[in-house]
Amino acid sequence: MATKLVAYDDAVKRYDPVLGIEVHVELGTKTKMFCAAEVSFGADPNTQTTPVSLGLPGALPVVNGKGVEYAIRIGLALNCSIAETCRFARKNYFYPDVPKNFQTSQYDEPIAYDGWLDVELEDGEIFRVEIERAHMEEDAGKNTHVGGADGRIQGADYSLVDYNRAGIPLVEIVTKPIEGAGDRAPEVARKYVETLRDIFRALDVSEARMERGNVRADVNVSLRPTPQSPLGTRTETKNVNSFRSVERAVRFEIGRQAAVLDAGEKVVQETRHFHEEDGTTSAGRIKSDADDYRYFPEPDLVPVAPSRAWVEEIRAALPELPAARRRRLLGEWGFTDVEMRDVINAGAIDLIEATVAAGATPAGARKWWMGELARRANADEVSLEALSVTPAQIASLESLIADGKINDKLARQVLDGVLAGEGDPAEVVADRGLEVVSDDGPLLAAIDAALTAQPDIVEKIRSGNLGPIGAIIGSVMKATKGQADAKRVRELVLERIG
Ligand code: MN
Repeated sequence: MATKLVAYDDAVKRYDPVLGIEVHVELGTKTKMFCAAEVSFGADPNTQTTPVSLGLPGALPVVNGKGVEYAIRIGLALNCSIAETCRFARKNYFYPDVPKNFQTSQYDEPIAYDGWLDVELEDGEIFRVEIERAHMEEDAGKNTHVGGADGRIQGADYSLVDYNRAGIPLVEIVTKPIEGAGDRAPEVARKYVETLRDIFRALDVSEARMERGNVRADVNVSLRPTPQSPLGTRTETKNVNSFRSVERAVRFEIGRQAAVLDAGEKVVQETRHFHEEDGTTSAGRIKSDADDYRYFPEPDLVPVAPSRAWVEEIRAALPELPAARRRRLLGEWGFTDVEMRDVINAGAIDLIEATVAAGATPAGARKWWMGELARRANADEVSLEALSVTPAQIASLESLIADGKINDKLARQVLDGVLAGEGDPAEVVADRGLEVVSDDGPLLAAIDAALTAQPDIVEKIRSGNLGPIGAIIGSVMKATKGQADAKRVRELVLERIG
């Protein structure tokens, strides 16, 4: 049965959406949060475990100090207060990927709380998201259900569990209710998660690769008739793992819940699954606020009490954060606000910075990444980063142009060669024979041929009308397959006629 939906524009005209977003980030520590099992991506199943991460009886956890430091870094970057003392708690539930039958997490004493994050939207507007808390916990193992149609447990023949992921440190960041986003709620949700991802990378606490599940978002959505009404019943779409999916999940839930409310029914408080293939969500399990996880303080771990001196040391060593970096680069590069926003939205800021570092001018770097390369990436439906050309190659392409060795038109052919794996720009120029013809000899032959072929134009130029000179230059460019230096051709034509 197809889910009934209200058209998005109609839904947001009549209902006020409120969001709540929980983001889990896997920390890039060398070892797990409570034991010395190594952490690396792609290892054989169940090779990175210890008695602690397998939950064997009698195994005792030890806190990973780096994990605590990374959590504090995240808390500080999100403008949070850092607890003077806090504890771990057991969150009890039974599931095969949690071998201890509880997740070691934090409950009423998170390490970081009461922060905020300014999120820049597509048009440059700043939207502030209030942060409730950021707490430390551990990841669960990974279940693989084999034999079913879609990887779900329903219909599967058997299930496998890989405990390599069990015990990897996580920080979970929970927002306060995000109100006031209105019809921009899906964009706010996506941009919030994107901004967090950029911060994790800048802080060097995680590779933060969405496609590897390093960053996962649970997206809560509810609707109410007006911004003054009490909060409506929310649903929580779990484990959304791409920016685009975050946006689509919010959009879908707004349309779906509006249809439920329009029909005079009640939104069911439940978790929901997001489906990549069609952008829909479907019901998961009923979730009440009173889910009884029987939280209690973890008796095997002492409280974490980061000294103020340590916190200040970490604060002082925080790297430049993305928003500050953008402001700095905007000044250094001399782009307009609109140009800079386009660069950010295209995900080109790192590429342009690296191209400038390799010697290109900011304007030159922007021209290539936002122009020709963006077009090609678009046509191939890949990201700019995925193109097989490096910032250093773009910088050397620019310098070949600046030195007059090639012109813009030839540069595009050089780029074809670079993208086809023919080597660096200079090699492609040499191998394909693309250098600009600056020798006057061959140019003069082509110019004379063009002048002889178009005597009427020659007459006009002689009589002082320089307008038609473009036609002569065009013929010469054509005859030299675009390899002539247009400026030099113009000089020679004028000499020849004059
Ligand atoms: Mn969690």
